[in-house]
Amino acid sequence: MLSEAGGQATLLGGTTDLFVHWPERMLDADGVFIDLSGVGALRAHRWEDEALVLGGLTTFWDIIQDERADREMPVLVQAARTVGAVQIQTRGTWAGNIANASPAADGVAALMVRDAVVELTSCDGIETIRLDEFYLGYKQMRLRRDQIITSIRVPRQSCSVERFIKVGTRQAQAISKIGVAIAQSQAGWRIVANSVAPAVCRCRTVERALDDRVPLPHVDALVELLGSDVSPIDDIRSTAAYRRGVLARVLYHELAPLCEWVGPQRGAS
Ligand SMILES: Cc1cc2nc3c(=O)[nH]c(=O)nc-3n(C[C@H](O)[C@H](O)[C@H](O)COP(=O)(O)OP(=O)(O)OC[C@H]3O[C@@H](n4cnc5c(N)ncnc54)[C@H](O)[C@@H]3O)c2cc1C
Repeated sequence: MLSEAGGQATLLGGTTDLFVHWPERMLDADGVFIDLSGVGALRAHRWEDEALVLGGLTTFWDIIQDERADREMPVLVQAARTVGAVQIQTRGTWAGNIANASPAADGVAALMVRDAVVELTSCDGIETIRLDEFYLGYKQMRLRRDQIITSIRVPRQSCSVERFIKVGTRQAQAISKIGVAIAQSQAGWRIVANSVAPAVCRCRTVERALDDRVPLPHVDALVELLGSDVSPIDDIRSTAAYRRGVLARVLYHELAPLCEWVGPQRGAS
């Protein structure tokens, strides 16, 4: 159906993002909407030897309820619990979070920090893309209009550190002013931030500094490093200065107890 629509159709997942703009879309008389909810095969998630595989319709709630996810990939559960509130978590999907391409997407940050890979299916076949190579700019991504996100593979590498921290106006029903996912595994450090760039992004300069054990004696050192990684803006939710400063402080607060090279230099007060 997608193929026949010649790239003009809109896929409906949980519709939690789409319904926000629904009155405008209803005026679009020529719109073609394809409801995925009848495609049962897209819903289930499964554990394979190498990866947790989310379906194109797997919801945040499906993962919150999976005790194994809480044990093996707590960052996913932590992020899922911050998305909207229970009503949104039970309808909203991980794939919709990715395809909506919001810079504030919490699910994307948690998936990206675990090196997730997106599987895109069309009549031409299946394409796989690492999530950290998926976004090209604000609301721009490597997803063609004739492709469906059919699954998301999250590698099962064990992480010695993994967590998601979100700063919003309140604990539920709040879009991130900033969010950050942190992980460390054999692959090295991963720091992924949201609401601080045109798309959710890895903070590669900070990651390299952590991998190389570069001393980070104070918050300002992190603010400086983040300058190459993020480009926050002023908008209705916050200011660029607040976002940059708070992201650095949250990171410092989280990392200092874990890394002896982050925190006050010996002898410093
Ligand atoms: C009150 C409220 C609170 C919210 N709070 C948060 C929050 O705290 N954090 C957060 O990150 N988000 C939040 N959201 C946004 C939203 O809930 C999430 O982005 C959710 O994951 C979207 O998933 P969905 O299945 O509902 O997507 P939909 O609304 O169905 O679709 C979103 C986009 O993805 C496309 N799409 C959907 N499924 C697929 C697929 N399988 N393949 C390709 N394209 C697809 C659609 O065509 C559309 O363009 C909130 C939304 C609301 C209304």
